[in-house]
Amino acid sequence: MSIGARTSHLRRSNLALVLDQLRRRGPSSRSQLVAATGLTRSAIAGLVGELEELRLVIEGPSEPDGRPGRPSPVVRIDDRSVAVLAIEIFVDEIGVAIVALDGSILGAERRSRPRARVAVAETISDVTALVDQLDAASPHPRLIGCGASVTGLVRDADGFVVAAPNLGWTDVPLARLLTAALDRGLAVRVGNDADLGALAELRSGAGVGSDHMVYVSGEVGVGGGLIVAGRPVVGHFGFAGEIGHMPVNPEGRQCRCGSIGCWETEVGERALLARAGLDPDGGRSAVEELLDRAAGDDRAALAALDAEARWLAMGIAGLVNVLDLDTVVLGGLFARVLPAIRRQLDEELVRRRYLAAGRRVRVVGAALGASAVTVGTAELAFRSLLEDPAGVMNATFG
Ligand SMILES: [Zn+2]
Repeated sequence: MSIGARTSHLRRSNLALVLDQLRRRGPSSRSQLVAATGLTRSAIAGLVGELEELRLVIEGPSEPDGRPGRPSPVVRIDDRSVAVLAIEIFVDEIGVAIVALDGSILGAERRSRPRARVAVAETISDVTALVDQLDAASPHPRLIGCGASVTGLVRDADGFVVAAPNLGWTDVPLARLLTAALDRGLAVRVGNDADLGALAELRSGAGVGSDHMVYVSGEVGVGGGLIVAGRPVVGHFGFAGEIGHMPVNPEGRQCRCGSIGCWETEVGERALLARAGLDPDGGRSAVEELLDRAAGDDRAALAALDAEARWLAMGIAGLVNVLDLDTVVLGGLFARVLPAIRRQLDEELVRRRYLAAGRRVRVVGAALGASAVTVGTAELAFRSLLEDPAGVMNATFG
């Protein structure tokens, strides 16, 4: 690398560093940025100036804090300059949202859909209709990227969905299809919903402060995102984290992936509802019904929740024992049933001996709730900008 190329590379990564600090810490004074980044005062002045010119940050007076004297100016993210489109594709629901650079959701539309309407073409046409609706409903800043999450195996490099068993999809070039269907010159990036939820919880939810974490999210299927030593585990092809398909029961049921006794066949929504004598395809309202019945001491509902706790503990203990995790974040279905199974789950986890060697593991519900995947999907859409702020802004606004 020539000296010139090295200097411009360094400048680009320093711009990205300052922008990242502002997004994590919120409004900060220049001195706070100096302390947080280890850069010199004059370097910070130059970088803040450049980010201001790119319209990504604003520098101005801070909120008065009641102390005498003039408050020092702070630098904050400009939440009205750019935004991204975040698309979420689940089995029972699709959602679209406009998300600003500071993470605020500027507008969102969601639509539930029947299980008979999940084919690729129907999904794409429902997504574009929702995006049009969102466009009409909420004026928003210029879109500079688009992310899509899907509940399936996604090849990282090109957003190709190799398999999404609960949608019945195989070999779908989802990034390419969405890019063409949206027709806005936005390149769409695609990721697995649980991986993106995990990133969001790690950055701004229940996983803050953890470096060894698993996010376990259940709906019809079960997905997971693994963070080890502070970084997402992606694996050889980018398929890591398919914890729903850990084999746990050789005598178990047929899984949609073709195998027998995968974890999701024991802890997924269908198994839980079937054990309680409810319609396995009853969706979220049937789960609410089950929780109501359990609160009224209904025996079948209580037994179903007991079984849920037992099988959940089995998988969690396995993951903790293999990866030496400090935090387990439960999302979706598991976050909803957690208060009802907390005691049995803790007892089972102790019985599974995962606390051996004095290990302490936090098992907590997702803090971002249903918006974890939205936040993570927006993060994916912002990735290019966050890696090269000047390059992307100049290309967009030239
Ligand atoms: Zn499976």
